[in-house]
Amino acid sequence: MSAKLLEGKAVAENLKAKIKAEVEALKAKHGKTPKLLALQMCENASSAVYVKAQKKVAEALGIEYELRTVPDSIAQGEAEGLIKSLNNDANVTAVILQLPVPKAIDAKRLVNLIVPEKDAEGMHPQNLGKILLGQYRIGPCTAMAVMELLESTKVNLYGKEAVIVGHSEIVGKPLSLMLLNKFATTTVCHIATGERGILPEHVKQAEVLIVAVGKAGIVKGDWIKPGAIVVDVGINRVGDKIVGDVEFEGASQKASYITPVPGGVGPITTTILMRNTVELFKGQLK
Ligand code: NAP
Repeated sequence: MSAKLLEGKAVAENLKAKIKAEVEALKAKHGKTPKLLALQMCENASSAVYVKAQKKVAEALGIEYELRTVPDSIAQGEAEGLIKSLNNDANVTAVILQLPVPKAIDAKRLVNLIVPEKDAEGMHPQNLGKILLGQYRIGPCTAMAVMELLESTKVNLYGKEAVIVGHSEIVGKPLSLMLLNKFATTTVCHIATGERGILPEHVKQAEVLIVAVGKAGIVKGDWIKPGAIVVDVGINRVGDKIVGDVEFEGASQKASYITPVPGGVGPITTTILMRNTVELFKGQLK
């Protein structure tokens, strides 16, 4: 392997130290700390892991954290009423709706109901719109985590050929705007690119490649441009292993930097959630 490993842990630790110091300074100045409330409507193994990790990171950073669990029989109207009451609760400074939600619940409608000032995940249309305008301090956690990883390489993105594979609302689309804001020449590939059979053609041009599809090995190692920075967001279970969307063995021979999976983007996302929480709190103090 010739590529340097882009590990998320070191980036996350660095961010955590800054956030912790900021929370302490805000407390000293204003006598208050941010409070993140996680609303959970469905309990399952993966969401249990997430909320446990959120609580641990929040508390380590001096952020108050509350998990509010409601029965999965909750009706849409009742859930909307709950979000509205959290919007009006002065003690709660940020809200995250844990996914998944019960089948009868329209998650998007609930996310849009969280006021943008308390939108910890940066998924409210108003907060997403600010990314388009280049005026954002918070944003979707995974996309922001990718930007932190890229920043940690100290490589200037100005004029670089950036290719994103996957155009989801939580990763590919916001990331495309974030990269444009850095003046990267940004191409977004999606299902239609794959269906036309021209995914390799695009990937081969990438000096910065971000893959967020959710299909193990969809990007082949020999497609990687020599010296490319490769950020693999994908998480796929293959047998008893977790692997990414990029064939790691081949890609790591050609890339200059590459994320391991697991251990790349994942460790940073919860920390970004906390940074969003602190940024929202600062906005409310103004
Ligand atoms: P998603 O909403 O399912 O989006 C996948 C994207 O890939 C879609 O835009 C889809 O296009 C596109 N796609 C599907 N097949 C393709 C193909 N053959 N060629 C090109 N594009 C194709 O998934 P997501 O939520 O963005 O997550 C993507 C992956 O990242 C998953 O493995 C997920 O587990 C992982 N993830 C990791 C983290 C982390 O913290 N590390 C966080 C979030 C997600 P269409 O929509 O047009 O079908």
